[in-house]
Amino acid sequence: MGPRFDISRRLKELPPYLFVEMDRAKKEAVEKGRDVIDLGVGDPDQPTPRFIIDAFHRATLDAKTHAYPSNKGLPELRIAIAQWYKSRFGVELNPDDEILPLIGSKEGIAHMPLAFINPHDAVLVPEPCYPPYKSGVIFAGGEVSIMPLLGRNNFLPDLGAVKSSLLSRTKLMFLNYPNNPTAATAEPKFFSEVVRFAEKNNIIVCHDAAYSEISFDGYKPTSFLAVDRAREVGIEFHSLSKTFNMTGWRIGFACGNAHLIEGLAKIKSNIDSGIFNAVQMAGVEALKKARVISAKNSRFYQKRRDVLVNGLRKLGWNVPKPKASFYVWAPVLKRYTSVTMARELLERADLVVTPGNGFGQSGEGYVRMSLTVDESRLAEAVKRIGKVIS
Ligand SMILES: *Cc1c(COP(=O)(O)O)cnc(C)c1O
Repeated sequence: MGPRFDISRRLKELPPYLFVEMDRAKKEAVEKGRDVIDLGVGDPDQPTPRFIIDAFHRATLDAKTHAYPSNKGLPELRIAIAQWYKSRFGVELNPDDEILPLIGSKEGIAHMPLAFINPHDAVLVPEPCYPPYKSGVIFAGGEVSIMPLLGRNNFLPDLGAVKSSLLSRTKLMFLNYPNNPTAATAEPKFFSEVVRFAEKNNIIVCHDAAYSEISFDGYKPTSFLAVDRAREVGIEFHSLSKTFNMTGWRIGFACGNAHLIEGLAKIKSNIDSGIFNAVQMAGVEALKKARVISAKNSRFYQKRRDVLVNGLRKLGWNVPKPKASFYVWAPVLKRYTSVTMARELLERADLVVTPGNGFGQSGEGYVRMSLTVDESRLAEAVKRIGKVIS
């Protein structure tokens, strides 16, 4: 027998992956040749717009793009980000010290706690949530403290419910609107409350705005940084992944408080060596056309949303109509749990949905459906659901 290498305590501490069984069942269904409709994926099904690919191609032909990128990101990209922020949110950012390009926003989100969290510091994490909020905190030795997002509070955390004994140890909080997985949105009034809460308790706010550019019925999500004094307490994470169908390219950014940006940049400069310059140049072109692309994508997802939600409502399943993101967060019907409903839809309808408890225990009682398949498949999904639940 060779040597045995035990994984680290921090890896053992990660929340368990609950979907081993679901994944296996899905794979088996696909292998058997069953016609599976997968509403489980959070990845756009449309290709990256051609003009972005062309910009990337042109950039790769310039040998200057072949060297190590700068840790700070290309000035052209930081300027394009500042211009987009100004026109989209009315927020002025200094490209020199208030903007940091990331290898996808997940990278920055997961690294942020390493820059500011010491062992035993508490971090407020909304739940259900995007998993890297928790793993980043655990890797930094911090303590994850859950803020449940409940339907009766419109999936906003109840800041008043955070225990004062915990507050003194709390150093940072994550927020995410438009939200994955609940599709909830937040208004400036809530963000102002967050700023007051953060000022009073000395807490860093990390707002993840990955879905700010996918919204419906004329609704436009705001930036956390657009409310008064937000820049004193926090940063915002953005991603080009969902906005421009660029999930595989790995490009996003953090912006806001210069001291917080500097801390994150310091961690990153010790771990990675930046984003391929040609990808950054493609990002510049993408951001210049953000308004057009996001309007187009939003119209596209809105039609899909209407097919799915109106269809389910006709079946008597009263699911809320999201104002943003590409998810539908549906309360399970009475006789089910998150997992039993997902399992039955897979077994009897060849339909994959994500059980809500996979995003943390607070997601129990819901399933998440993605609008990343086309309208005819969504109509077919509704038909199949009808056969299972009627
Ligand atoms: C998809 C997603 C991101 C984006 O991740 P990238 O690393 O930029 O691709 C960030 N936050 C949430 C909540 C997401 O769903």
